[in-house]
Amino acid sequence: MLSRPFSGFIACDAPYFDSKAVLLGAPFDCTTSNRPGARFGPGAIRTESWGLETYSPYQDKDLADIHVFDAGDIELPFGDSEQALAMIEERSQTVLRNGKRLFLLGGEHLVTLGALRAAARQYPDLHLIHFDAHADLREDYLGVSLSHACIIRRCHEILGDGRVFQFGIRSGERVEFEWSKGRTALQKFDFAGLEQVVASLGDAPVYLTVDLDVLDPSAFPGTGTPEAGGVSFHDLLNAALTVLKANVVACDLVELAPNLDTSGVSTATACKLLREMLLAI
Ligand code: MN
Ligand code: MN
Repeated sequence: MLSRPFSGFIACDAPYFDSKAVLLGAPFDCTTSNRPGARFGPGAIRTESWGLETYSPYQDKDLADIHVFDAGDIELPFGDSEQALAMIEERSQTVLRNGKRLFLLGGEHLVTLGALRAAARQYPDLHLIHFDAHADLREDYLGVSLSHACIIRRCHEILGDGRVFQFGIRSGERVEFEWSKGRTALQKFDFAGLEQVVASLGDAPVYLTVDLDVLDPSAFPGTGTPEAGGVSFHDLLNAALTVLKANVVACDLVELAPNLDTSGVSTATACKLLREMLLAI
């Protein structure tokens, strides 16, 4: 007898009803301001994952021992951001209502808004922890409010002052940094203060969004808007594992554009981070 081989992220082959966490791909890059290609992120991550071990020496855990369901990619309409976000929100809501942790794979950073809308409805006390090279706090980008350059501003509109914590930020307009004061907690360049933030959140529900361009471009060139002076893989791994000690109800990895790094290292790096985050969530 023949059977169809599993082609999702490695070892994420649990049945839905049995799963604790759900991987969901949102291959969308309609508003990317510089170099497009993030729509190819989720597929590249799944394919590359088969070159990865399921065992983590960092955490002494194995993906084969946990229950993750890979829901594949949502088929999204390029050219209609609001419709794409509505479709991401609907799928995210289903996962969260079923009591499972949501793990969204971008796509560009705008996709976060769909999942965050669903998470904020399910968890009114939601907090957002944001790793990125960019502040993403613009009111609009060239007149467009639904842009990856505005994503954290849109999230703040839902969550309000004091609920958004940004780390690693090294790029933005002066007005974005000034606007953040008193509204979001913005840590430039690194993860200083992250442990205190996580401790202060206690059991509050947390959404973690990781824009992979927070990494230094020497470690992660495969992204649409690379910014020199980023963090190392170990810095990011430790930071993500710190946040995942909190009550993280949903998280995402965004802005991998695999075709912009012909070496494949960026995709392999994203895969390894995803494995570690899945093991910790
Ligand atoms: Mn960014
Ligand atoms: Mn971003």
